[in-house]
Amino acid sequence: MQYELNFQCALPNGIHARPASQLEEKCRQFVSQITLMNHRSAKSGDAKSSLDLIGTDTNYQDECSLYIKGDDARQAFESLQLYINNEFHLCDEPLAQVEEKQVCIPKSLLNHNTELVYGKPLVAGIVKGRLYKSDSVTLQSYATDIQENETVRFSNAHASVVENIKARLNSAKKQEAEILNSHLSMLTDNNLIASITKLLTYNSTANAVTLAVDEYIEKFNCSRSEYIRERVVDLRDLGLQLLSAAYPAAQYEMATLVEDSIVIAEEMTPSQFLKLDKSHLKGLVLGKASHTSHTIILARSFNIPTLVSDALPAVTDIEHPLAYLDCQLGVIAVQPNEGAACYFERAMQLAKQSKNCQQVYVGKSVTTMDGHKIEVAANISHPIEVAGALDSGADGVGLFRTEMAYMDRELAPTEEELYEYYRDALIAGKENSITFRTIDIGGDKPLPYLNLPPENNPFLGYRAVRIYPQFITLFHHQLRALLRASVYGNARIMIPMINSIEEIRWIKAELAKVKEQLKQEGIPFSANIKLGIMVEIPSTVFILDHICKEIDFISIGSNDMTQYLLAIDRDNQSISHLYNSLVPSFLRMLEQVISTAHQHRCWVGLCGELASDHRALPFLLGSGLDELSMNNPAILATKSRLAGMSYQQCRELFLKACQCSTKAEINKLFHDMPLNTQEKTIISYECILLDVEFVSKEDAIQAMVGNLGIIGRTDNIFALENDIWAREAVLATDLGFGFAIPHTKSEHIQYSTISMARLTKPIHWQGDSGMVNFIIMLTLNSKDSAQHMKIFSSLARKLIHKEFRDQLHTTQCRDDIIELLSTLFK
Ligand code: PEP
Ligand code: MG
Repeated sequence: MQYELNFQCALPNGIHARPASQLEEKCRQFVSQITLMNHRSAKSGDAKSSLDLIGTDTNYQDECSLYIKGDDARQAFESLQLYINNEFHLCDEPLAQVEEKQVCIPKSLLNHNTELVYGKPLVAGIVKGRLYKSDSVTLQSYATDIQENETVRFSNAHASVVENIKARLNSAKKQEAEILNSHLSMLTDNNLIASITKLLTYNSTANAVTLAVDEYIEKFNCSRSEYIRERVVDLRDLGLQLLSAAYPAAQYEMATLVEDSIVIAEEMTPSQFLKLDKSHLKGLVLGKASHTSHTIILARSFNIPTLVSDALPAVTDIEHPLAYLDCQLGVIAVQPNEGAACYFERAMQLAKQSKNCQQVYVGKSVTTMDGHKIEVAANISHPIEVAGALDSGADGVGLFRTEMAYMDRELAPTEEELYEYYRDALIAGKENSITFRTIDIGGDKPLPYLNLPPENNPFLGYRAVRIYPQFITLFHHQLRALLRASVYGNARIMIPMINSIEEIRWIKAELAKVKEQLKQEGIPFSANIKLGIMVEIPSTVFILDHICKEIDFISIGSNDMTQYLLAIDRDNQSISHLYNSLVPSFLRMLEQVISTAHQHRCWVGLCGELASDHRALPFLLGSGLDELSMNNPAILATKSRLAGMSYQQCRELFLKACQCSTKAEINKLFHDMPLNTQEKTIISYECILLDVEFVSKEDAIQAMVGNLGIIGRTDNIFALENDIWAREAVLATDLGFGFAIPHTKSEHIQYSTISMARLTKPIHWQGDSGMVNFIIMLTLNSKDSAQHMKIFSSLARKLIHKEFRDQLHTTQCRDDIIELLSTLFK
């Protein structure tokens, strides 16, 4: 009897090499014949051959069937059904996506008129090295006539390549091991070996391997999926490895690197990449590759900046010319002129400084200028993000949205899967606390397998804690998994959408039941695990005193709280202009919640989008929150801003804001923040560079704007730089007396800043008054338009006075410079 197992491919990248090798391994456990049929592509293949499986061109959501025939067909059907439903879709981890943002090339580089080759950066970084060109070896380069014992030649070569890959697997890291395993599976593919063996009757090993591999390449090349097309390189790689082992005399070696090098190649196979000496390999420029190619995955795991470019840099007369590869901008410059080389050297120095600066906040909490501590944590939704969050300076995870593990699948995850998922997060989190929010499913996030009926008003509907009683097993699995994983780190449990004490008591009773079960089963868990709730429904604000007696902590979900408090749908574009948390009602709510919680010694965080809104930061700091939890990219900038703020001043600001009657009054308060708060923020210690050396105007602007990026005042240094240059293009800003005041009103500076550089050697400012040895750069946020002219004219007036200029030139410490410049506001 034939069994038929129907499924829809849930793998976002389709069945490419790694999933194929896993499915093939599963199928090989049975003697039955198993065929995969893809109904969309109308292609079928032997499920015990990973190459055949890839050849079915199975993409995401393709309808497929496994046809199973043979002695153990029923057993195979049952086991494969479980595997496909519960595990198969998990066998392909999402790849780190390179954010594709349009980068503008700064004038500080373009002004040097050096030749640049443009491309698409696939692995970030900026490096320099000698350029090595690696010739592409084709399978055809091995073409030769048939000789004696071709079968022996092939099988020896095959055995040696298999042995080689297995030896490499012993010391391979996770991603390298996955790739090597998929290569092993393709290399030992019965159908490939059968096809080569057949061809060997009339062909040399070289020709037989080439013909067999080409047949699959042709198939893969027709795929709609880029991911499957990319596997052509892996196949060619295996073919080349086989031929290199079969014909050791005809070696086509990769470049041998003896110094810091950037390797360029039209195409590079994973094994060619692995052969390159990583102590010398600094960068890669490839003609062909996408972010899904195995070579790129390896380059990322070895942290090798990589650019893909249609036009590879031209060969020069010099054997190994010096080159700079800048994967921030997506350019490579070979033998750049002096000015451009100086640009890249400066960019490398800034990148290094930025990395060092970030380290300051890694594993260290931030303190305001007046000694107030506030935690800055990360919002995440996958364990894979934990390490990155800590590396970005997060003090922990304030919100782990656990829904993701339940979505885009046909059945709920098993307790075991969840346990492993949470355990991985806690191990990665080390001793830092990770707050797991239990599932906020239903409403606008329906799950097909829960069969919840559509609702008229999903945000006010059957969701989160409200569905737990109906899906009690689902909820218990999550609690069991969380408790079991809790022994691996510092876990907290947080319940979403709580509305009443009854709900909290119900949760506590269920948690107690699950703890008791685990105790009976002898399974260890952290007995004192902290339990908290999200305060995101306004009703909780009025019973918070009671709530605090029941739980350990609360976190304000400002996204939902704003929508429910103001009755404004958070997703409705037509009323998005009304969706604003910086209004008197919301701030009063904050004040009431935080003061009540603190009176009851209850810890309070805030984890909605508001936490990373730079305008809200002084109010949130002043509100007395214990933690702000936000997306990774905002963490560093927030910490660096908090370090320069005064809690006391923000507290006063917040309390005044709570007395405002309109949002306009709050805006005004923000703009009119006390002068000394502005001074502290507009001129900060890190923006004053005393006795530095710049070689040109370009160098100065690049370095000063780069510094603003490092200290978290801009998140787009290139755009900000070009805004400065736009002003210079109208009229160079040298004012005479050796002073230049480059300035801009720009949307790319998050916080208005005055930077200053006193130079050891004068530079030409490309204007009428010649040389400059003192630069005062004004980068004011476009919203601060009034400030712009005020500061500029006040500065110009002051500089007329010799005494002021002399003081700037002779002052020895940065505090005195701040003092001097602060007179600009008086
Ligand atoms: C919130 O409501 O603020 C929140 C953090 O939860 P979510 O955005 O997942 O609803
Ligand atoms: Mg919410």
